[in-house]
Amino acid sequence: MSVSAEESAVKVCVRVRPLIEREERATAEDSVPAPLYWKADRKSIHQLDDGVTTKSFSYDRVFSSSETTNHLYQDIAKPLVVSAVEGYNGTIFAYGQTSSGKTFTMMGSKLVPGVIPLSMEEVFQTIQNYPQKEFLLRVSYMEIYNETVTDLLVDNWKRKPLEVREALNKNIYVADLTEELVTCPAQALSWVFKGEKNRHYGKTKMNEAEQSLSHHLQNETTLIYTSSVILESRERATQPPGITLRAPSSCPHLNLVDLAGQNGPAKPGRKALALRKGCNINRSLFTLAQVIKKLSDASQRGFTNYRDSKLTRILQNSLGGNAKTVIICTITMAAPGGDPQHPAVQLSKRHV
Ligand code: ADP
Ligand code: MG
Repeated sequence: MSVSAEESAVKVCVRVRPLIEREERATAEDSVPAPLYWKADRKSIHQLDDGVTTKSFSYDRVFSSSETTNHLYQDIAKPLVVSAVEGYNGTIFAYGQTSSGKTFTMMGSKLVPGVIPLSMEEVFQTIQNYPQKEFLLRVSYMEIYNETVTDLLVDNWKRKPLEVREALNKNIYVADLTEELVTCPAQALSWVFKGEKNRHYGKTKMNEAEQSLSHHLQNETTLIYTSSVILESRERATQPPGITLRAPSSCPHLNLVDLAGQNGPAKPGRKALALRKGCNINRSLFTLAQVIKKLSDASQRGFTNYRDSKLTRILQNSLGGNAKTVIICTITMAAPGGDPQHPAVQLSKRHV
């Protein structure tokens, strides 16, 4: 039995993206309308066969294609951002196939700000409500490709694999990861944009590494991008100047993660090659799915193996415990119910 959304520190949501222009044109040109594979309501997705529901998957919330990013932000991201200012770690993941709307949801477009700019804005606004505290805000941005962690805030020629280490207080950290001090939302966002530009490095490396393999395989690879806001804070000093301040009282991380390039549906001939190549690349996603299942389902007891992948190890302090986690599975009109590898299916809270 699964726990209710209120009890769970992990919320799994789905965002359905509307058809984009090119797809609408293609649909309009089709003489025979495509069959409807699924329908959704506020809490579930129902797989259809000839219009009849064959399977249902349930979530904390399903955002329909007509709901805006701001809608989604207010509903599921804002509470997590506010609690990060209050001292709790939080992580928001966008998880879905290429072109399903992860970047649109997280970064936004020219016209519609995404979860990341909205969160940055909110962080700076919310700290105003705590005049008794002083904050030191920093931003970092890293990439994980094939279990290798690199820093997106340093220039490409200086980038090297970074080590994940454990501090004396047991906190896990990425050694030498740049953390840039920021004093306003625009500055914080400008670092994220810089990181976005550096993403090309990973793409080039990926192409080189896979030159000998079929180009189809590019869809099978996984790049994980994590931008974090580190919210160090302490009570303002009441002592006279010159007296040393106490150690920081809290240092939560707000992680905003783009889990890019999830496998597409299997196609004949691609599978064996994909499996061989995909194992290591998808280790972080596989382990994350297991960790999330354990955290969001009270019936799945036992040891949580955060150590099995770089992503879960790095985010260990931000998953479970007092931390809050939101996963936004972005989907398109492809049939999630028909594909057991589909993120929305893997992370559904209950299959009926
Ligand atoms: P991904 O990052 O998952 O590969 P994108 O965010 O780039 O996918 O989205 C693919 C395309 O769909 C882009 O052109 C984007 O602007 C558009 N798009 C995605 N989600 C939405 C949405 N909710 N509303 C309108 N357009 C969207
Ligand atoms: Mg993208």
